[in-house]
Amino acid sequence: MVVVLTCIYTAKYLVPNNAPPVEGGALFVRGDRIAAVGQLSDLVSRFPGVEVVDFEESLLVPLLVNAHTHLELTDFPQWAGDADEETLPDSFVEWILQLIRLKMNLQENDYRSSLKSGIEASIAAGTGAVGDILARHSARDIYQNSPMLGTIFLESLGQDPAKNCQSKNNLKQVLTEKSSGMLELGISPHSPYTISKDYLQSLYRYNQNMQLRCSTHLAESADEVDFVEHSRGPLVNKLYPFVGWLDFVPHPSGVRPVEYLQQQGGLFPENLLVHGVHLSTSEIELLASKTMSLALCPRSNARLKVGKAPAGQLLRSGVKLSLGTDSLASCDNLSIWDEMAFAHRWFEGELDAPTLFSMATQGGAEALAIDSDMGSFDVGKVAAFQILRPKTTVAVDEVFDYLVSSNCSSDIYQVYHHGQLQFSQSGYSEPAG
Ligand SMILES: [Zn+2]
Repeated sequence: MVVVLTCIYTAKYLVPNNAPPVEGGALFVRGDRIAAVGQLSDLVSRFPGVEVVDFEESLLVPLLVNAHTHLELTDFPQWAGDADEETLPDSFVEWILQLIRLKMNLQENDYRSSLKSGIEASIAAGTGAVGDILARHSARDIYQNSPMLGTIFLESLGQDPAKNCQSKNNLKQVLTEKSSGMLELGISPHSPYTISKDYLQSLYRYNQNMQLRCSTHLAESADEVDFVEHSRGPLVNKLYPFVGWLDFVPHPSGVRPVEYLQQQGGLFPENLLVHGVHLSTSEIELLASKTMSLALCPRSNARLKVGKAPAGQLLRSGVKLSLGTDSLASCDNLSIWDEMAFAHRWFEGELDAPTLFSMATQGGAEALAIDSDMGSFDVGKVAAFQILRPKTTVAVDEVFDYLVSSNCSSDIYQVYHHGQLQFSQSGYSEPAG
């Protein structure tokens, strides 16, 4: 007979995301799923004899979703240090050149250990799912034993038709595997400035025929807008010669990135767009009318000085928003808690605390099409939660302010995936059981 483990978890506050914080709330977990949610006293009487784990003065919160990252670049700060390139370049394109330069020295094992570090750091940061862009497709098996959900977006780019044909064949071969660990495989056509029009169109067609998840960097910098619309600027003058693409500089499209992507067949709801910094009002309306999802990466945008996404306007228009850290090549760490805290300050009142918390949970889950499993404490979803132990008392009406404070990432006490403890902060005693 198979024994299914059951347990009731409770804390001072349960923050379900789909409802206000519940004082004295509890989760009844059966196996790897949430079987009931309610007040502790109700659950104890409904399920007598079940073990109760009481985290006392803590908050019981869903795991977060990092909708856009590149975990294979987690060791970037170390690679930059080894090459004496710790200084941040002073422009977006110089930063891309630095990244390409450093990647030239890497071997397969560098990517593999970097990706492994990224997965571990994400779990320790209370992240339950990722939209992870992976350029080194051969490292995908690192995910085999990870408890995280989400999508591995296999990156593809290129301007040379012969090489693109080979890349697409390789990609199709890898995609026959469908998943790695608990993550689906999808495609990431990198961006409008790194991929030829024909190849971009063919990847989007393939993507939709195969019903795969997709993700594309879009409207990140003014340089990208200049490149797409006018075929000019530092991407043409610096990036293209550096990577040997001078023969492939496209003719000016005469349109900005959103319209360009629409012309190539890229505006479909399964294509998770990333950044969306340089958007006009009509472009935002177009994205909303196509029910697009957009992952904002405010810390990366600030670090690379590319501008600030029109977050309030995007929210009001109905574009589905989520949050991503981007990679450690443009961000300090992989914590979505820290991303929320930064976003709360950076967007200056455009996104309030409950909205940011929703973007980091349900919004991210919807962006990765895993909202039937994650994003809130609903019965039937995966038991994916974390325990936060604030260092000072938090009143019930202060819970959301606390969740966007910069304290949460260091207050993580325990992290549970699929009902199993996956991370525990050292230095605390075990909770009363
Ligand atoms: Zn990115």
